[in-house]
Amino acid sequence: MLLIHCPYCNKKRPEVEFAYAGEAHIERPNGINQLTMTDEEWSNFMFIRNNIRGEHAERWWHNSGCNMFFNAIRNTQTDKFIMTYKMGENLPTEKQIKAAKK
Ligand SMILES: [Zn+2]
Repeated sequence: MLLIHCPYCNKKRPEVEFAYAGEAHIERPNGINQLTMTDEEWSNFMFIRNNIRGEHAERWWHNSGCNMFFNAIRNTQTDKFIMTYKMGENLPTEKQIKAAKK
């Protein structure tokens, strides 16, 4: 059974308690930019996502636990969670990710 660490509960819980919620760190354009964006730019913001094979920043939802969203670095090839972190925290650096693997 895959266990996922929730940074809010601060414990590992079974994967069935979680739901994938998309790519992490997608910034919504601010109000002014939305009015001047082309349809193509808006479409890219809404629908185009990276589909990385390997380590990827993702958003997860502890929907059967604390009901909080958090971010994770997960390897999409091995399905291994390298680290999880709270919403609002910066994307981890390569150095932080490397340290989390140890
Ligand atoms: Zn939780």
